[in-house]
Formats: sequence, C-alpha cells, structure tokens
Amino acid sequence: MHSNSSYNIKTAKENVKITSGKTAVFDDKSGDTGKAIHRHFCPRCSSAVFSYPDVDESAAFVKVGALDQAGQVKPKAEIYVESALAGSLPNKSQVGKLTSYEGFMAKEVERA
Ligand SMILES: [Zn+2]
Repeated sequence: MHSNSSYNIKTAKENVKITSGKTAVFDDKSGDTGKAIHRHFCPRCSSAVFSYPDVDESAAFVKVGALDQAGQVKPKAEIYVESALAGSLPNKSQVGKLTSYEGFMAKEVERA
C-alpha cells in the first residue's frame, strides 16, 4: 500500500540528533527493498519524524513536515513515480529540476 505524498530529506544518520525526549520506533519490513526501515515517531502524537533504512545504514530520511523551516526546502527527487496517485506528482515547471525514480531510487526515469 502506498500513501500519498511524503516529503523527506535524505541526510547522513550522524546529522540526526535528538535533543530531548525519545521517539517510538516501528520496524517496517513491508518495503520493496527487502530490508527493514526503522520509522521513528513522536510517542505522544504519532507524527512521523525520521526513518533509518537498513538498505543504506549511513542514511536517515527526515520528514520535512517535522522541520521548523519546512517551507524553505526545495525538492530534488521523487520516488515511486510508477505508483503515484493520478495528478499527485509535482509540476516540474513549478518546482524546477527534479530527478524521477521508479521504486526506492531503483531506476531513474523521465517524466514530463
Ligand atoms: Zn508529537
């Protein structure tokens, strides 16, 4: 199952620092990479905060919506374009250069 848009920043795991509190973790093994993604949530309101994928153990994916300056983030890539809901992909003429991939960056593809 795919949800609609999720905006994430890929960064090095070492850049993620929890300064107070603790996250709750869901070890999601349903992904198509065959490896788990450890999804960290706020334990009080269940907001997704960041994920650590086993497929790239040095990486973290931070939820843009969890950032104070989320509006300053410019998208650079989109993934799972083959299964996007109709009309849900960004308009490239509005967001600028955007690399498109099928799957979890499995294959780069062109789309209008
Ligand atoms: Zn919360």
